Amino acid sequence: MTILSSINPLNGEVIGSVETTSPDEIPDLVARARAAQGPWAALGLEGRAELLGKAARRFVQDAKSLGRLMTEEMGKPLKEAIPEAGTIGTGLLGELKEIVEALKPETFQQGPLRSVVHHDPFGVCAAITPWNFPMAMPNWMVLPSLAAGNAVLFKPSEETPLCGQAYADILGEHVPPDVFTVVHGADEQGKALVQADVDLIAFTGSREVGKHILRSASGGLKRVILELGGKDPMIVLDDADLEEAAKFASWNGFRNAGQVCVSTERIYVHRDAADRFEALLVREAGEMIVGDGLEAQTTVGPMVNEGQRQHVLDQLSEAVKGGAKILTGGVDHSAPFIKPTVLADVAEDLSISRDETFGPVICVTRVASDDEAIDKANATPFGLGAVVFGKDPDRAEKVARRLTAGMIGINRACGGIKGTPWVGAGESGYGFHKGKDGHRQFTQTRVVSTSE
Ligand code: NAD
Repeated sequence: MTILSSINPLNGEVIGSVETTSPDEIPDLVARARAAQGPWAALGLEGRAELLGKAARRFVQDAKSLGRLMTEEMGKPLKEAIPEAGTIGTGLLGELKEIVEALKPETFQQGPLRSVVHHDPFGVCAAITPWNFPMAMPNWMVLPSLAAGNAVLFKPSEETPLCGQAYADILGEHVPPDVFTVVHGADEQGKALVQADVDLIAFTGSREVGKHILRSASGGLKRVILELGGKDPMIVLDDADLEEAAKFASWNGFRNAGQVCVSTERIYVHRDAADRFEALLVREAGEMIVGDGLEAQTTVGPMVNEGQRQHVLDQLSEAVKGGAKILTGGVDHSAPFIKPTVLADVAEDLSISRDETFGPVICVTRVASDDEAIDKANATPFGLGAVVFGKDPDRAEKVARRLTAGMIGINRACGGIKGTPWVGAGESGYGFHKGKDGHRQFTQTRVVSTSE
């Protein structure tokens, strides 16, 4: 038996442990899930939604203790962690309603001909998740997959096994045995799951692992949904409300210590607005409070682990050696933290300009025109989110429509309102989640046609 310990990134203390799943055991778990899936599907869409909906109350009731576990396990400040757990509960019934609506059969009539489009379960789904939103990300994949009638094998990140287990214990409380199974472990278990007899692989994580999964799944033409990393740009036009733009950039660049897929990592600001914007952003960064996420005032907690911290430090020191100017923060940071850092004049060919940073670091570049801002923002294979700040709605929208990201926010965060999909373009995504189209990706579409 191998034990996976969960380590508090703040102090290195072991806060708990789980038993890892042996990769050899995974084919048997998949077979059991397959046997359980038929009766689960037979409960019908509404029947499954009713059982899953029973979990809502406990997510709300336990939000504080779940939030505390999240903070202790991966460092996220409590004021972000509690809402992450709580909104799973407050949003559960609404989300299930949306899923039920999306997956109902649709009837088409043409004279005497009738076709019915069904959204059937695939069978067995693997859900492989990251650590940065250790309850929200699983919920985005596990909930629609189970509601659609699939059996699910869920592998939480090895960084957050306790959060994964806690989520599964609550959601799975009213679900029959073997329909929802937790697989604990790291890449070895992830690979074994992908290679096992699963019909669908839903993955959220890094671009590199996503590409590996796509290659592994291609032999059997398994269905794959990938939500991957980003290098999100923000464009600040010269007519923008600079106070608002700086506040947004600071929040979206530094929350969860920058460990957010749609974190603002690059800013292109019109040169006429640049001096003032940079000063405001430095002021905002200075107001962030770095420390123990359990302290009420903390806004930036520790980095999830030393490896991730070192990756950010390496990017920072390469950037500064390459001529980048430090506006605030810098290259020296005491473990396990990284202070909010803003750089300017960063060379475009460096890792910090090209690769995901996933830390509380923003690079600001001055541009002379909207065209230059758009070209620079689009000069990346990633395409998750993007943000435009500007007061003239027509101009801001024109800029937004020329950005290659999957989700673009104008004077706000990139994610769309309820009912819309979460979607990455380019190398940030392959398929999408949420909204009608997202929910349907957990199903096999079948058309049955008759003539009367
Ligand atoms: P990661 O890719 O290292 O790991 C993600 C999961 O995959 C973990 O459970 C891990 O154990 C597993 N895994 C690792 N190697 C595997 C393999 N070869 N086969 C199968 N599974 C494997 O990512 P991470 O460090 O946990 O998370 C951070 C990344 O997630 C960032 O790139 C971030 O941008 C991305 N992310 C994207 C979104 C989105 O919506 N697009 C949301 C959150 C996080």
